[in-house]
Amino acid sequence: MALIVQKYGGTSVGSVERIRAVADKIIESRKQGHQVVVVVSAMSGETDRLLKLARDLAPQPDSREVDVLLSTGEQVTIALLSIALQAKGYPSVSFTGAQVHILTDSAFNKARIIDIDAARVQKALHEGKVVVIAGFQGIDSDGNITTLGRGGSDTTAVAMAAALKATECAIYTDVDGVYTADPRIVPDARRLDRLSYEEMLEMASLGSKVLQIRSVEFANKYKVPVRVLSSFKEGAGTLITDEDEKMEQALISGIAHNRDEAKLTIVGVPDRPGVAYSILGPVAEANIEVDMIVQNVSAEGMTDFTFTVHRNDYDTALKILEKTSEKIGARGVTGDKKIAKLSIVGVGMRSHAGIASKMFKALADEGINIQMISTSEIKVSVVVDEKYLELGVRILHSAFGLDKHGFIEN
Ligand code: ADP
Ligand code: ASP
Ligand code: MG
Repeated sequence: MALIVQKYGGTSVGSVERIRAVADKIIESRKQGHQVVVVVSAMSGETDRLLKLARDLAPQPDSREVDVLLSTGEQVTIALLSIALQAKGYPSVSFTGAQVHILTDSAFNKARIIDIDAARVQKALHEGKVVVIAGFQGIDSDGNITTLGRGGSDTTAVAMAAALKATECAIYTDVDGVYTADPRIVPDARRLDRLSYEEMLEMASLGSKVLQIRSVEFANKYKVPVRVLSSFKEGAGTLITDEDEKMEQALISGIAHNRDEAKLTIVGVPDRPGVAYSILGPVAEANIEVDMIVQNVSAEGMTDFTFTVHRNDYDTALKILEKTSEKIGARGVTGDKKIAKLSIVGVGMRSHAGIASKMFKALADEGINIQMISTSEIKVSVVVDEKYLELGVRILHSAFGLDKHGFIEN
């Protein structure tokens, strides 16, 4: 008898009919003799709806209260799913994050899971119940409700699977696996049978929102095999595990995109030791994460310094930068919210040169200007004008042969 954790996303529990269908899927697993722990998201659109209510009352609502509010979305679905299971004659019990002691830090809206006490879940499983747990939420050491950041139910599921030493964590969603690019943008994208944690981590960090980044970090740390599958369609989905020799040795496994970033530049900065710190120090103090950073070669003792932040942090970062600019005697500050980041990801890149230039050529051939570049061992990212996002993703997808076979002959 295996213990399986299944997670159902917002679309999969978006209506009473769909909740009923999810109950049937769970019952199927039970009939195969498995113990099942289910993690659910709020019904599709619900988290956005709640956020809008808060923002209608205050432009920047208090983050603690936002978490109290948002956690209700998942509380609705756990109860409904449990009711649906019971109506079909299957014993089940629902729990909020707090009820199963999902202890997090106190970073409201983006809390991190510190510990899970699996005892209550195990007890219910031993009683023969299906356990339904609210995703995306936890509780801090002072008893405040916290949430884990958008897409956080994935992380609840993987963390639960780790805590319970489950055989597998199945993430049921509205696509039937992880694709070589977002299938909504690239119709020719191919489903990947397997992917390493490392590659999935890069894809997720670079904007592929099919899994929340932290869920992949957890999976990698505790070696939880994760399978991404469709709630609507049969199939094996995509298995995310450690890299092994049998894995398809594609040079590039996928193209990721991200339109959540914005770019800020401070121009005419006197170039002296400590410049980067004097610019980025105050940004970090404001708890704003910086992604790409570029400092130009200095000319006549002056340099330009550009970096990207999340778009939600743009206004705050701009204000901070304007102050810094005055303080350090820079010429001024400019910014651009309409940017997109395109990335190619693949472990095969480690052993091959020329991948980056192939990417730059493909974009150049279409007249797409590259504004910033950043590379690591297994990825190359570029920032371009947002209007080129979809075109850029498609061009790169075909330039690297991903629509055909996923391999590039040298
Ligand atoms: P859920 O509500 O089930 O958590 P999400 O919307 O969070 O679902 O994630 C699924 C979506 O992720 C898909 O509908 C798809 O548009 C998007 N996506 C982005 N990149 C990829 C990719 N490489 N492969 C599959 N889906 C992707
Ligand atoms: N309901 C939350 C969100 O919409 C968490 C999740 O669905 O994973 O982001
Ligand atoms: Mg999601």
